[in-house]
Amino acid sequence: MHDAGSPQLFSRSSGEGENAVQEAEVRPSAEDLIRTDVRALRAYAVAPADGLVKLDLMENPYTLPPDLARALGERLGHVALNRYPPGEPARFKQRLAERIGLPAGQALLLGNGSDELIHLMIHACARPGAAVLSPWPSFSMYRMTAELDRCRFVGVDLRDDFGLDLPAMLAALREHRPALVFLSYPNNPTGNRFDDGAVRAILEHAPGLVVLDEAYLPFAGRSWIGELPRVRNLLVLRTFSKLGLAGLRLGYLCGAPEWLAEFDKLRPPFNVDSLTLAAADFLLDHLDVFDAQAAIIRADRARMIAALRAIDGLQVFDSAANFILLRVPDGDRGAGERFAHLLRQGILVKNMSAFHPMLRGCLRVTVGTPEENAAFLEAMKQSVE
Ligand SMILES: *Cc1c(COP(=O)(O)O)cnc(C)c1O
Repeated sequence: MHDAGSPQLFSRSSGEGENAVQEAEVRPSAEDLIRTDVRALRAYAVAPADGLVKLDLMENPYTLPPDLARALGERLGHVALNRYPPGEPARFKQRLAERIGLPAGQALLLGNGSDELIHLMIHACARPGAAVLSPWPSFSMYRMTAELDRCRFVGVDLRDDFGLDLPAMLAALREHRPALVFLSYPNNPTGNRFDDGAVRAILEHAPGLVVLDEAYLPFAGRSWIGELPRVRNLLVLRTFSKLGLAGLRLGYLCGAPEWLAEFDKLRPPFNVDSLTLAAADFLLDHLDVFDAQAAIIRADRARMIAALRAIDGLQVFDSAANFILLRVPDGDRGAGERFAHLLRQGILVKNMSAFHPMLRGCLRVTVGTPEENAAFLEAMKQSVE
C-alpha cells in the first residue's frame, strides 16, 4: 500500500517484467468481458462537420451577443473549480422552477442533457419483463436505451401523416402494459405535434408513466407542464439544448416528487458540472435573448417550408420544431444522392432514409441562419435540375 499522494502513486512498481508476463497469459478479449449486445452496437455517430454549414443536429445557429458572452465569461471565471458541484443545487432549481412556471407541488430533476434523464427513467423502471413504448419512428435514444436495459421496446407505427394511430396505441398499451411511454412532442424526426385528444387518451389509459419530451418547446408553442398537477403519471422532459445551449448539456425533468425521488437515487452524484450550472444560472436572467432567437427561427422555418414547397418533386412536411422533414423522389437512392450533393456544396443535413420504412427518401434539415437556409435551398434546387 502507498500513502495517497506519495510520489510512488505515479511511479512504476518494481518487478515490471514479471507483471508483463502474467498479463500476457490472462489478457482478456472483448468477447470475454463485454456484453454481446454492447459489442453489437455502434457508437452514436456524430458526423464530422468542420467547415460545413451544419444543419444536421437541430442546433440554434446563433451565438450569444458579445456583451453577454463577456459577462458570462466573467461569471464562469469565478466558479470554484477546486470544489465538487453542489450536491443539490436548490437555489438554481428554485429559479428555474419560477422561470418555467412549474406548478406548485411539482419537482425538478437535473440531468447531463435530457439524454441522461431518459437513461435514469428507463433504468429505474427496467424490472424483468418491463416494456417501454413509443410511437415510431421517433427519437432513437428511447429504443436504444430501453434495449440496453433489457426492456422490451414497443414501437407503434405512426399513421402515414405521422399522426398518432390512437387505436393502435391503446391496443399496445393494453397488450404490453409499458412501464414508460415516451412521446416526443413535437416528434423528432417528423416535426409534428401529436393531436391533443390522442395525447390525453394515452395519459388516461397508460398503465405506467408517460413522458412528454418537450425538447423542441421553444419552437412548438405548446406545453403539457400545466397538466402535471392533474395527471399523476405524467412527466415532462425538457432540455436547454435546442434553445441554443447544446454545448452545456443540461436537461430537466418535471413531475411529482415521489417519482423524481426514485430516479434521483440512480443519478450519478455531480452529474451536472459547476460550469454548466453557473452558465445556466446566469442565462436564466437573459432568456429573452433565446426567446428572440427562437422567434427568428420560427419565422425562417415558415419561409423555408414555403420555398421548399415551391421546388418540384419534394414532399415537405409541416413542422412545429426547428427542423423540417422532406421527402425527395426515388427513395433511399434519391435521398443518398441529395445528401451527397448537399455535402459537396458544403452543407450537412441528416439522411433519415434508412431509419424507418416510413422515412424512405427523407432528409431532415435544421433551420439555420437566413444565409445558411438560402445556401441549402439553392443546393436543393440544383439537385432536382
Ligand atoms: C435532441 C433531443 C433530445 C436530447 O437532448 P439533450 O438534452 O441534448 O440530451 C431529447 N429528446 C429529443 C426528442 C430530442 O430530439
